[in-house]
Amino acid sequence: MGLKIYINGNLVDKSEARISVFDHGLLYGDGVFEGIRSYNGLIFKLTEHLLRLYESAKSIGLSIPLSLPEMTRAIIRTLKANHLKDAYIRLIVTRGEGDLGLNPAKCSSPTIIIIADKIALYPKKYYTNGLELITAATRRNIPEALNPQIKSLNYLNNILAMLEANNAGVPEALMLNQNGYLVEGSGVNIFVVKKKQLLTPPSFVGALKGITRDTIIELGKKEKLEVREEIMTRHDLFNSDECFLTGTAAEIIPVIKVDGRTIGNGKPGKVAARLLKKFRQLTRTEGVRY
Ligand code: PMP
Repeated sequence: MGLKIYINGNLVDKSEARISVFDHGLLYGDGVFEGIRSYNGLIFKLTEHLLRLYESAKSIGLSIPLSLPEMTRAIIRTLKANHLKDAYIRLIVTRGEGDLGLNPAKCSSPTIIIIADKIALYPKKYYTNGLELITAATRRNIPEALNPQIKSLNYLNNILAMLEANNAGVPEALMLNQNGYLVEGSGVNIFVVKKKQLLTPPSFVGALKGITRDTIIELGKKEKLEVREEIMTRHDLFNSDECFLTGTAAEIIPVIKVDGRTIGNGKPGKVAARLLKKFRQLTRTEGVRY
């Protein structure tokens, strides 16, 4: 038996999980999504992820036909149907089926998809050795055009950055905004450590407000670091003591080189290691049980 996928209230086999070619999620990237993780039967930061999904949907004028508790039940149902204790949950809400025009008013009702699968972990060497970044020439979407706070199905901006990373032979790319300030990676937030300061770009420069980012900010404060949202340039990054990336799948990954410049002593930093330990403790104890 294959994976069971939730589509509009039904759990169907992966081989039969289909949506219409007229779905505007496919035709126009018109929809929103979330990537959530469960650890040993606990869904980490579920409320935070659901709130971000509903806020993204609100912002694009998409009314999700399930209430928050209904959505929670649908997620748990999908996890249980697949007997998953440690899972990556992809929650997708599209505008639904319409015609070939882009008008969302022509779409009948949203499509809700929940995919729960085993988590595809990043290679262990990224955590032990750290990774190298290049700065993408592709700038992050400007908030006045498509606000990066909206976790939409339209990820071409980020994909173009990943393409540049692939071409450069590195695993991830740093994205700047239209003014040249640090924003984030293609699907991860960025932190910089300088002395006792833990710094991350403010979301208004054009970064997604990552749930992991928020958790690290809280953990950093508990660790008595001076945590601040700060506008930074590549110069600040090149001259930092440490740099690391955060995200639901990645958790915390140290960065040791950016555009050929060694960060700190060129080894994964102590602050990143300490925060990763604390973060993993939290994922073992906190969450919605199912
Ligand atoms: N930035 C972008 C563009 C993302 O897509 C993501 C999530 N994949 C993140 C940052 C990290 O967010 P989170 O910690 O909520 O996974």
